[in-house]
Amino acid sequence: RFITFEGAEGAGKSTQIRRLEARLLALGQPVLTVREPGGTPLGERLRQLLKEASPGWTICPESELFLFLASRAQVVRQAIGPALRENLWVLSDRFSDSTLAYQGGGRGFAQPLLRSLNEMACAGLAPGLTFVLDISAPEGAARIARRGPESAKEDRIESEPREFFERVRSVYRELARLEPDRVRIVDAERSPEEVAAEIWEIVSHVFGL
Ligand code: C5P
Repeated sequence: RFITFEGAEGAGKSTQIRRLEARLLALGQPVLTVREPGGTPLGERLRQLLKEASPGWTICPESELFLFLASRAQVVRQAIGPALRENLWVLSDRFSDSTLAYQGGGRGFAQPLLRSLNEMACAGLAPGLTFVLDISAPEGAARIARRGPESAKEDRIESEPREFFERVRSVYRELARLEPDRVRIVDAERSPEEVAAEIWEIVSHVFGL
């Protein structure tokens, strides 16, 4: 009952999470929705730090990695774990696969190192189903640009080269190849309705709803 949403910025993760949450709630199913980084008071503070882009404020890749992991360690213990124990559905906007994709593919940290750090952060907790909302880097960037300049700055789409996002995307694809039952690639260049319909079909099939 733990479902995570992954993918590039501009893919529409938050829209799809809201839709899935609404469908589950309509069936009378209790849901906890969290986002990463974030989901706890500490996590939200870390999110602000990670998103802040001001002159003289730099975060080296190692610090960035540890800040994302700190947020995850906290949300696992303080929110996701307790919710799963109470039989809630948990929907998370990003989780451990983001570390493999962004800090691995994007920043070049070795996958085995990231996997063992993830293990520590997640305390044995793993999603049963993961949607990767797949979108090309130019289309993602165009959607972010339509949201306005503030959003573009926050989403770091402006601060990384195109290849960064291509490497992120290829790690997601590799994960789907390695774990096809858990990791489902969904074509996010279609309309939100079409994407939501595919997601619902998979969720209802996998969880027998
Ligand atoms: O799209 P969302 O708001 O979830 O992403 C927050 C930002 O953090 C994005 O710009 C994404 O590129 C970045 N990120 C990252 N490493 C992670 C998770 C997110 O660089 N592990």
